[in-house]
Amino acid sequence: METKTKDLWVLIETKEDGSAKNVGIELLTPGRELADRQGGALVAVVVGSHTDAAVAEANAHGADRIIVLDSEEYQKFTTDAYTAALYYLVEKYGPTSMLIGATVNGRDMAPRLSSRLKTGLTADCTGVDIDAESGNIIWTRPTFGGNLMACIICPESRPQMGTIRPGVFKKNAECAGHAEIVREEFHMAAADIRTQIREVISEAAGELVDLEGADIIVSGGRGVGSAEGFQCIRELADVLGATVGASRAAVDNGWISHAHQVGQTGKTVGPKLYIACGISGAIQHLAGMSSSDVIVAINKDPDAPIFGVANYGIVGDLMEIVPALTAEIKKMRG
Ligand SMILES: Cc1cc2nc3c(=O)[nH]c(=O)nc-3n(C[C@H](O)[C@H](O)[C@H](O)COP(=O)(O)OP(=O)(O)OC[C@H]3O[C@@H](n4cnc5c(N)ncnc54)[C@H](O)[C@@H]3O)c2cc1C
Repeated sequence: METKTKDLWVLIETKEDGSAKNVGIELLTPGRELADRQGGALVAVVVGSHTDAAVAEANAHGADRIIVLDSEEYQKFTTDAYTAALYYLVEKYGPTSMLIGATVNGRDMAPRLSSRLKTGLTADCTGVDIDAESGNIIWTRPTFGGNLMACIICPESRPQMGTIRPGVFKKNAECAGHAEIVREEFHMAAADIRTQIREVISEAAGELVDLEGADIIVSGGRGVGSAEGFQCIRELADVLGATVGASRAAVDNGWISHAHQVGQTGKTVGPKLYIACGISGAIQHLAGMSSSDVIVAINKDPDAPIFGVANYGIVGDLMEIVPALTAEIKKMRG
């Protein structure tokens, strides 16, 4: 596709009520830096129905321009309608690069769009940078089971496209906002949309674990020892108003559901406080939580790698330390 501008696009995915999903707003943070370095505008593309709140949020987080496609047919995501709409917009405006959240919908739609545009897509990235001279985005993503981080460029075709995990970047502080709002129309005949969403059924029997949005996470690993052992993790989480996370070892042992897993094959999180209990700190776990503001590790092995990323470390048995912490916090809170 012909690049008509140096603009960088961020897709702002919306929920059914039209508000923005966090990841799109988070991606405006690296988007701002990359757009400035390549000398183009930062453009937020909002697709959905009743999107005023999403548009206002994109404006308050630094977009220079917001392209809005607001219509009932975009209230629920369908691959056909979203792909066709974004293809139309990309062809019309010709951005040089495009960041998309690696959500279920983003992962579904982005490969189809990139193939229609005959360009490359780097999926499930955990970082982005730019070679300002060539304008090539440098997409970083784990490879070889998370043991290596690959840097990938797409030098031959445009736009450069990538999906980026939720929780990797933090939202920019809110600003006054001065974005130019461009309203677009694109409609697709209902008969051309080959799928219909009748009902959304939550996979884990109603268990919705918002790890990505959590300010505090208390996570347990193999060191917790059993499903019953997680009781003390839950109690500490309760007094802190935290969400419970877990390592893959705890999930694979069947002590807690996969919805709680943090890491390369789980969720990527960035809370203000992450407390890792009985977690060794394997690279695949660190890939999902090392951007937390403050990390506290509780482990009986003083040489555990988790202490290499922790701001505070407690060496000892979590079965003694975690209940003691819970009791102390309860006491402080009266
Ligand atoms: C492709 C791939 C993807 C992966 N994805 C993920 C992922 O998304 N998330 C993830 O977490 N892992 C992932 N893994 C697995 C990862 O490599 C590790 O095996 C896993 O993170 C280990 O979990 P753990 O730290 O709980 O267990 P361990 O490595 O066994 O560590 C347990 C720790 O608990 C400590 N301990 C034991 N008893 C106590 C006690 N009573 N008090 C205090 N400390 C105690 C031990 O000293 C030890 O450090 C992945 C692996 C692969 C190959």
